Amino acid sequence: MAETPLSRVRERIARAARRAGRDPAQVTLVAVSKTRSAEEILPLLEEGHRDFGENRVAEAQEKWPALKAQYPDVRLHMVGQLQSNKAAEAAEIFDVIHSLDRESLLKALVKAVEDGGRAPDCYVQVNIGAEDQKGGVAIAELESFLARVRETPLPLAGLMAMPPQGLEASPFFALTEELARRHGLDGLSMGMSNDYESAVMLGSSLVRVGTALFGPRD
Ligand SMILES: *Cc1c(COP(=O)(O)O)cnc(C)c1O
Repeated sequence: MAETPLSRVRERIARAARRAGRDPAQVTLVAVSKTRSAEEILPLLEEGHRDFGENRVAEAQEKWPALKAQYPDVRLHMVGQLQSNKAAEAAEIFDVIHSLDRESLLKALVKAVEDGGRAPDCYVQVNIGAEDQKGGVAIAELESFLARVRETPLPLAGLMAMPPQGLEASPFFALTEELARRHGLDGLSMGMSNDYESAVMLGSSLVRVGTALFGPRD
């Protein structure tokens, strides 16, 4: 079969996993399709890919119902910051939320479930580089926040982290992996186009890749 961006990224994930003695099947590739049109997304669906990431609820609501009608087994991942007043709508369309990072959002998601909505798998986002401008739970607060999530009906999938831009990502991946292990969590959502191979070598179970699959965003 001809090489495609998707097959190349999959192959690089598999190689990184094997280098670390890991089973490539234990790494999920999420194709981050934010800002991409249905025409750009369709070739990946036709190639058999089913996990896609978006960062805005409204954009997902516009693009995905039609695509999901054709490919009902698509799994949609919310990878962007989520406002609490959008939580109920997000739970309707997303299967996985990667940005659970505060009490108000947790409450809103729990309320959506109590009102009869779906309970998406949730990753707790950690502010791994202690950056003011970035979302995520501070490392010092992580233990108590995870305990709060575990009191709710929301399935806790693991931790999500984004290393600070401009710094070597590996130490931050290693730290996230250590935090997940300390808290008994298996799921690790870390690694993007520039660094997904190191993330996989350092234990990531889910990489979120946009540019390497779709080309540069304009
Ligand atoms: C856009 C985005 C990605 C994908 O980034 P690329 O560098 O294009 O691979 C991954 N995770 C999050 C949270 C994003 O917002």
